[in-house]
Amino acid sequence: MSPADASGRDAPGTGAGPDAGPDTGPDAGPDTGPDAGPDAGPDAVALVLDGARALLLDVDDTIVDTREAMVVAGTEALGALWPGREGDHRAMAERYYADPERWFPRYASGAIGFEAMRSGRLAEVARAFAADLPGEAYDAFEDAYAPAFRAAQRLFPDVPHLLASAEDAGLPVALLTNSASAPTRVKLEALELAARFDVVVTTDTLGFGKPDRRVYLEACRLVGVEPGEVVCIGDNIPWDVLGARDAGLRALWLDRAGLGTDEDVVAVGGLDVVAEALAATRFGGSVVDR
Ligand SMILES: [Mg+2]
Repeated sequence: MSPADASGRDAPGTGAGPDAGPDTGPDAGPDTGPDAGPDAGPDAVALVLDGARALLLDVDDTIVDTREAMVVAGTEALGALWPGREGDHRAMAERYYADPERWFPRYASGAIGFEAMRSGRLAEVARAFAADLPGEAYDAFEDAYAPAFRAAQRLFPDVPHLLASAEDAGLPVALLTNSASAPTRVKLEALELAARFDVVVTTDTLGFGKPDRRVYLEACRLVGVEPGEVVCIGDNIPWDVLGARDAGLRALWLDRAGLGTDEDVVAVGGLDVVAEALAATRFGGSVVDR
């Protein structure tokens, strides 16, 4: 855990998030724990889940394929801004997603608002592609982006299995995302999941997001479970694992791409691994001395 990770509010160099770039991976550290790498193994996963009373799931690129939805919607919306650049629209959208100036982490820290974040990213794309940013670019982009983004929502196919397993085990499942409330609602409604989650904590809940420890604690408070009995699961090591553990929660890193890491984390290659472990794990009373 680096000081930047622990400080929460402004964690330069930490991984990207929703509306941010592809996970550039963890800050590789000297710790090479036995649990490092994808699919830490059923015993390691079961140990994290043992005695747990709630799950806290990230949203973007954990339960929904946000990267693809953003690139598809961005391709369409950037096409509306620069109709003469047909060959560039997808590359522009991928750059918008990659967010090399790290506008999204600034937004997640509470330093800037949502519109400023998106406007900054648009301006960066314009500069990178030597394109003139038209007047009213933000509104034109949003008008084209919103319906395309809604239509592009896809749930990862292992999510229903995990939700069913959690329900069978009697574990409430809450969401903790660094996205804003409005786009999160769009995603959940498009996927007919809005009624599934009683607790959805976004950057609008407290005005900032992960890895500030207060957002994890707020999610635990709303679920009504002590942090030490909550397992946070997500694709971003600084935000979903290190930050969660710093706040006293347990955590699993979702490594869908099989990237691996030298960080001392317990990794799973998909949510099916968690669902299967839930079916075989004790709940409500730890058998392990922590
Ligand atoms: Mg994520």
